Amino acid sequence: MKYEYQKACKCGNVDSIEVTRKEAAFGLKEKEIWSQECSKCGNKEFTSLSHPQPEFKTDLLIEWGNNADYFFMEQDEDLMLADEKYIDLILEVLDNHQILSQKRNVLIEALCVIIYDNNVSEENNADLTDRVAKELKKRKTDVLNAQDWIMDYIKEVSFPIIGIEYVSKKTNSSEHKEKNNIWNKLKQIWN
Ligand SMILES: [Zn+2]
Repeated sequence: MKYEYQKACKCGNVDSIEVTRKEAAFGLKEKEIWSQECSKCGNKEFTSLSHPQPEFKTDLLIEWGNNADYFFMEQDEDLMLADEKYIDLILEVLDNHQILSQKRNVLIEALCVIIYDNNVSEENNADLTDRVAKELKKRKTDVLNAQDWIMDYIKEVSFPIIGIEYVSKKTNSSEHKEKNNIWNKLKQIWN
C-alpha cells in the first residue's frame, strides 16, 4: 500500500510525495511537504494538498499511545475515534497494551462520545449505547481517571448511562472557587 500526498500547484502541476505509513498516520512529514517546491515551476505555494489516511490498526494506536508528540489530528482526536468500527480496537488497546495515561483518556472519551452521539441525535442507537456502556462499566477505574479530561457536555449525557455520578463543574466547589479567586485577583490587577 502506497501513502502519497498530492500537492497541487498554481501552475497546474500536481506532485505526488510518497511517505511511510507511520509518516502518513501522524503527519510527520507535513511541514516539510508544505515548504517543498513544485517540481515544475519551483513555487512553494499550493492550491490543494491531499493527505493519505492509513486505516487505524492496533500497531498505529499503540505507537500513538506511547508518544505524546504523535497526533492523528491536531484536535478532536476523540471525536474522530468515536466510531462504532473502532470499539474493538480501542478496547483491545485499553486492555492489553501499555499506553500513556493521557492517551488512555482520549480513548475513554471516544467511547463516551459514542454514547453521547447515540443519545442526543434523532438516529439514536440503543443497542450501541448499551454495548459501549457495558464495556465502560467494566472499566470504571479508567473512566474515573479520565473524568477531568472528558468534556462536560459529554459527561453530562454519558456518565449517568455508565452509572457514574456526573458532578457539574458549576456546583463543584473547590475548583470553581479556585478559579474565582484567580479571576478576582486579575480584576484587582487590572483595576
Ligand atoms: Zn508549479
